[in-house]
Amino acid sequence: MDTDHFEETSLLSSSFQQETDLNENILRPKALTDFQGQQRIKDNLSVFITAAKERSDALDHVFLIGPPGLGKTTLASIIANEMGSEIRMTSAPALEKPKDLAGILTNITENSIFFIDEIHRMRPALEEMLYIAMEDYEIDWIIGQGPAARTIRIPIPRFTLIGATTKAGQVSSPLYSRFGITCRIEFYKEEELARIIRRSAAILETEITDDAITLLSQSARGTPRIANRLLRRLRDYASVLGNGIIDEKIVHMSMERLGIDAQGLEQQDRNILRTIIEFYDGGPVGAETLAISVGEAIESLEDFYEPYLIQKGYLKRTPRGRMVTSLAYQLLQIEPNRSMDGNQGILF
Ligand code: ADP
Repeated sequence: MDTDHFEETSLLSSSFQQETDLNENILRPKALTDFQGQQRIKDNLSVFITAAKERSDALDHVFLIGPPGLGKTTLASIIANEMGSEIRMTSAPALEKPKDLAGILTNITENSIFFIDEIHRMRPALEEMLYIAMEDYEIDWIIGQGPAARTIRIPIPRFTLIGATTKAGQVSSPLYSRFGITCRIEFYKEEELARIIRRSAAILETEITDDAITLLSQSARGTPRIANRLLRRLRDYASVLGNGIIDEKIVHMSMERLGIDAQGLEQQDRNILRTIIEFYDGGPVGAETLAISVGEAIESLEDFYEPYLIQKGYLKRTPRGRMVTSLAYQLLQIEPNRSMDGNQGILF
């Protein structure tokens, strides 16, 4: 992926890449009680964790689904903390050869957690190995070469696989069906983001007014990672251009400078909607064509921009492609071309 270009187009969406953000770890909650929102998920996990601990057994395999920055990695490390278990973290693209996966699986300790991010990108040969590991706690290993080659089964410790993905639809059904617990993480409500911002500001020892918290939680795209990133940028603006306190004035000024509007839309969000309207008569247009038209990587279009535009009601994914809704016309103050209605499928 062209990361330079990516940074240029969006300060915030770079979050979806697996870039190391050292500051992020400071703000990462360590216990379920510090993890804001997602109440149903927390309640259920808490029961399953307690039950597994009572049986001194590994927790069932957990599948975490949701857009980037909503807390999948955080939840995985919290589960490990709550279980009192070790955690090994990797991502599917980093596992290239069967020996990479076998190396981890044969070295993990009893009841520990193995976290695989972007699990929809597992290579098929490794996925096969994972099925047996998840189900039978064994791996198949080929020794020797040519006609002398034979497969041996190696037992591995009982473990919990936590698989995370932004694209549940791309996970094969044999893999999907081996997870006993599935958690679909939703965008956060404003009041939940407000609590996250308040907690992060306290950790960062930054003073922020209630009004500023409200404004910030409205612009954070329902996403804790973005709330935290914006908070750090606001802290910079407040200390360089203000008196160190983040207030409403600082939020308005910073958002203006960052090109982010009151509901968290960036220039590229508007560009995507405008492109669909002006080049494709409101849609439908295929994701790949759209990504090329707006100069964006397909992954960032699908994982970062689209989910929020869909959630806000500006965009629709249809079997024929992406389409804008009437709200997008209103947002961009473009008069819809009525003659296109019907045959072009613009929604009114
Ligand atoms: P993902 O793995 O889904 O991309 P992360 O778990 O890395 O997201 O979360 C990004 C950041 O957002 C974390 O550093 C953490 O500080 C914060 N965060 C995520 N979810 C929550 C939550 N529910 N409560 C508080 N902070 C959160």
